[in-house]
Amino acid sequence: MDYYFQTNLICKTNPALRFSKHQNSKTPASVNERMVLCLRKATPQFNISRVSISRLFSTILLTKPQLKTLILNQYSHGRFTHLIQNVVASPSFLLTACHNLNPNPNSSNSVWTQFSLTQMAQQLAKNQFDIKDCCFNVGGPHGEVLVLPNLKLKVLIEAIRIVLECVYDDRFVTFSYGGRVGMGRHTAVRYLKNSVENPSWWFTVCFDDVEFGFKNVDRLCLVLEKKIGDGVFVGMIRRFFEYGVVRIELGGFGLGRGFPEECGLSAILLNVYFDAFDKEIQELRLKTNMENPKVRVDDNVFHKPLKVYAVRYLDEILVITSGTKMLTMDLKHRILSFLENDLELKVDRVRSAIHSAANEKINFLGMEIRAVTPSFLHPPMSEKAMRAQKKYLRQKEVERLELRNARETRRKKLGMKIMSHVFKKLKRSDGFEFDYQIENEVAKLFRTWSSEVVEEFLGSIEERWSWHRKLTTGDFLSLKRIRDQLPQELVDAYDDFQYQVDKHLAPVKAKSALEEEERRVQEQEEQMYAERTVKDLTKLCIMVNAPIELIRKAVRLAGFTNNMGRPRPINSLMVLEDADIIKWYAGVGRRWLDYFCCCHNFKMVKIVVSYHLRFSCILTLAEKHESTKREAIKHYTKDLKFFDVDGTEEVHFPTEKEIKMMGDKNLSDPKPVDGALTVTLIRLASDEPLHRCIAHFCNRTDTIVYRIHLLQNIRHVNPRDAKKWVPGLGAVHESLNRKCIPLCSDHISDFYTGKLTFQDIDCTSFVDVDRVTAAAQRS
Ligand SMILES: [Zn+2]
Repeated sequence: MDYYFQTNLICKTNPALRFSKHQNSKTPASVNERMVLCLRKATPQFNISRVSISRLFSTILLTKPQLKTLILNQYSHGRFTHLIQNVVASPSFLLTACHNLNPNPNSSNSVWTQFSLTQMAQQLAKNQFDIKDCCFNVGGPHGEVLVLPNLKLKVLIEAIRIVLECVYDDRFVTFSYGGRVGMGRHTAVRYLKNSVENPSWWFTVCFDDVEFGFKNVDRLCLVLEKKIGDGVFVGMIRRFFEYGVVRIELGGFGLGRGFPEECGLSAILLNVYFDAFDKEIQELRLKTNMENPKVRVDDNVFHKPLKVYAVRYLDEILVITSGTKMLTMDLKHRILSFLENDLELKVDRVRSAIHSAANEKINFLGMEIRAVTPSFLHPPMSEKAMRAQKKYLRQKEVERLELRNARETRRKKLGMKIMSHVFKKLKRSDGFEFDYQIENEVAKLFRTWSSEVVEEFLGSIEERWSWHRKLTTGDFLSLKRIRDQLPQELVDAYDDFQYQVDKHLAPVKAKSALEEEERRVQEQEEQMYAERTVKDLTKLCIMVNAPIELIRKAVRLAGFTNNMGRPRPINSLMVLEDADIIKWYAGVGRRWLDYFCCCHNFKMVKIVVSYHLRFSCILTLAEKHESTKREAIKHYTKDLKFFDVDGTEEVHFPTEKEIKMMGDKNLSDPKPVDGALTVTLIRLASDEPLHRCIAHFCNRTDTIVYRIHLLQNIRHVNPRDAKKWVPGLGAVHESLNRKCIPLCSDHISDFYTGKLTFQDIDCTSFVDVDRVTAAAQRS
């Protein structure tokens, strides 16, 4: 149903809303009142008197359907209008945005103490909100400047993001990942692994490392205006770009990593910008599917219809075809010219080369992707493994049998005990009268037992076979000379017995049944082998690997290992508390494990975390306390346990067992390790005056000031130098180096363990320690 029609219908059926519209024409109702009416419709139980509206309203948190209803209500004649005035400029909408920004919304209610949402809403409604006033310049020592929004502006940005998500998210194509609900990296990888069949040629689109220019911003605004008929709204986004609060750098490893330089709006704006491109590819795919329909063929003919696949994660684009190289080149030409001409983006044509899927691996999403045969991906069990499995099963069977025999023996002993007891009693009482005949009971019991035993033995072919062998071996009675000397009855009885044995234990039948079973197993194996071979010859699937060489290089760059690849201590961390050292290592390790859990060679990443990181941590602790590695392990154990101030045991580093059990289960979009690996926070030695914690909406003042140290500055490596730096590893902006941030104990812990990123702290509230100390010295 059309949105416009929907709203119209609501007005017709809801007298309260019609009344409000009518009233609007004379005296404009406040945004809050209009919203309440709107919400009443969304949730019928939402019914409060007008007097209490304003009081109640400041504490109402909107749910997702409520947000959606509010925004969809602004839809008329194909466009959304008055979004700032009627939606964003309301305290409850801003409050919802605040809660989205809060890393743990349950723990704090401090929104009101930092700034007034009501006042902010009024400013927005009158279009008097000063964006420039909320932008802060953070400068580095070499003149680099980064513009960051303060908390107030972050709330506005989040509110705008909610609106954009509501307007656009349902319209994006299925292969657009990143910055969307339930569409993260793991989902993209799962799509590649499960849905792409027979890839033959592929390419990734590489952008020249340039920022979104004015040209692009103009285009973006034009795209936005198609759906959003609110000049104030689009104007605000334009000003964000002008002031530098929103910066989009394509191909610069800065997106989706939780860096301070990335704005909350970047992802969704990028998705909006690329939507035309996505639609173009979608059309192309549909056209290819129409021209190459799937035809029904017999099992003996292999039919592979031509397919085009695409995955876009923010600014990373991968296109795969199952066709010829010529076709792929043609496709690439069309895609690149669309990006260059229609989207006005600069593409690096040399790096966007076409690769053969089967022979060359390609880098995408920080992982290595290759096309392999199914048996390479899931290799059949080796002879040795099969033998081991058989041996294990046999052992299990023997154990089971022994257990059963022991039980039988115990039961028999107990039965005999009871019997003798009853018998003794009977003897002593001399003719004690029973209600029933005990002999009959015993006979019945024995009958059932014996029939059970016989059934069990005759049920198994192998048992019958061995019984037959036992009963027929050593039959000297079949020798003629002996038979002649024996009485006729005995010989006859023997013959009869042998006949019965043959008849009932049927060795021929038993043997053939055994052979049949053997043949069946062999046939099954042969069939599986044939299937596997045919699949290998006709099918290719996608293998996703963690770039283990790059991870090793990153491990070396960060100082976890020496040039020989052996774990070593990291000197710069030794000034931290023991708990913080462990937490920092845990944060890096857990992020790596989380990021690569969908990879085929996840095992290798596990080794890096479980061995290199763990022992580097142990060595750092040992070096800090000037003890040996053995002593450190004795104190902290290999699981790196420690006790917090209250004496409770804490384990942050994943234990060896936990790592072993990890697998491809995580589906939420993982944060890459870059943000944790390239930053260390070092506690300041001097006593600072008390500052408020700068995590969003944290009111605690019992904070400690930490200084940010960036890896590129510790190692003196320029992140743009591909030879020395690890390709694909993003770096935090230079201007944040040596800045000081106050954090409370909870939030520093969250920051170390990776639960909190720079996105969740207010980077504009740095403490200028050097100036404070200089002032103190002067006075
Ligand atoms: Zn805090």
